[in-house]
Amino acid sequence: MHPHAAMEPFLEAVQYRRQRLEGAVSRGEKVIGYFCTYTPVELIHACGFLPVRIWARTGPAEKACAQVPGFICPYMQLSLENALSGEFLFLSGVVQAYTCDVACGCVNIWKATFPDLLVHSIPLPYNVSPEAGAYLRSCLEETVEKLVSAGGTYSDEALAESLDLYGRIRGILSALHEQRAQGTLAMTSADLNVVAQAFFAMDPVHYLMMLERLVADLNSCRSILAPGIPVLVSGSVVEDAGIISLVEALGLRVAADDLCTGLRAFTPASAAGQNPLEQVGNRIMKRFPCPARSRQSQRIPLVLDLVKSSGAQGVIFLFQKFCTPHLADYPAVCGALKDAGIPSILLELDGNAGMEAQALTRLETFAGMVGA
Ligand code: SF4
Repeated sequence: MHPHAAMEPFLEAVQYRRQRLEGAVSRGEKVIGYFCTYTPVELIHACGFLPVRIWARTGPAEKACAQVPGFICPYMQLSLENALSGEFLFLSGVVQAYTCDVACGCVNIWKATFPDLLVHSIPLPYNVSPEAGAYLRSCLEETVEKLVSAGGTYSDEALAESLDLYGRIRGILSALHEQRAQGTLAMTSADLNVVAQAFFAMDPVHYLMMLERLVADLNSCRSILAPGIPVLVSGSVVEDAGIISLVEALGLRVAADDLCTGLRAFTPASAAGQNPLEQVGNRIMKRFPCPARSRQSQRIPLVLDLVKSSGAQGVIFLFQKFCTPHLADYPAVCGALKDAGIPSILLELDGNAGMEAQALTRLETFAGMVGA
């Protein structure tokens, strides 16, 4: 039994996500998968589909390796392995905001392998400018057309409702991240990771009710977490809460993150705009940029601000192995941290559960270095 009773439904939602989604489909719902959290989930939801983030598995990627080279990130390899093993038979389609070449290539493999699925890529502009905003809006309009052609329906009113729903969820999740940075969140970062994973796999209306119960439970909780040396975790997809537990077991406390499966997915909660579609586009443009957006000069000060506001004494880069966007940003971000006197360590996730002995030894040394 988890110390927070309100955490149980989140754990269950992650553990049984496939079964729950298959149940939803048997009741007539249609589910659309996505990989990258830049994907406009509120738009998919407004068109009458349930958006869920496609998940990977641990272990070898035997079937996937017949279709993709072994040097692409384990997340994309192992999510394809899942698909080829029948994990995602409940999907009606895949709608993916363009992140990196690997994701784009894999989406094309999904398209060729599963011809009955709606498979659509949304190009994302790299610049933030009025012209880029107009281009993005036209891409979102095209996405609406694709979703409608796959059996969805669209109205501005429905999108406004979905924006409100997702905005409330993201607002609460951002507030939990903020409490964590201030050291006042009465739950571990591993649990916060599970809460985020459940968000990616669930009906948002039900999820919001669970989240509100969790917040009430946390507010009434007097337990104080064991102190640890605050650190920031920066990287791409971290689906395994066990990795975060490992970090925290070494006397460190993950006080902030810069992850696609963490803070970056939830901020900003919403954005203003003249109409709902423009609000969707503006939020995408205002996001804490992921390295795949090639906006290093904007990203570095944001990472430094996160370090400062959370009191992080060091940064742990947790990358999916071979993740080129993050590896390309790394030297500059690491250099800026070094200039600011913040130590860092780079660890790569290889698709296996936990951490290799050598990586664990390096992490233990790093923990000692920052005072744990
Ligand atoms: S950005 Fe990195 S982790 Fe994400 S899909 Fe691309 S290579 Fe994989």
